[in-house]
Amino acid sequence: MYTCKDSINLLLEFLEGEMPEEEARHLQEHLSGCKPCEEFLSTYRATPGLCKRAMALKMPREVSAKLTEFLRSKIKSCS
Ligand SMILES: [Zn+2]
Repeated sequence: MYTCKDSINLLLEFLEGEMPEEEARHLQEHLSGCKPCEEFLSTYRATPGLCKRAMALKMPREVSAKLTEFLRSKIKSCS
């Protein structure tokens, strides 16, 4: 079972389009049972397609750090 911390790391890889299929499946399992992570994902999914695509293709280190920070603030009660 993945923890939120694992999920953050995986999620960031996923946003960069570098997650192996099996990892993605484990992550999905965690996300489906974890509200904070789920909320983050729906926020992410709500971003416009083009923007999302740009993020996935080329995510600056700064954005990546902000994402991590955002996720951590969301899940601090869940660990
Ligand atoms: Zn979680």
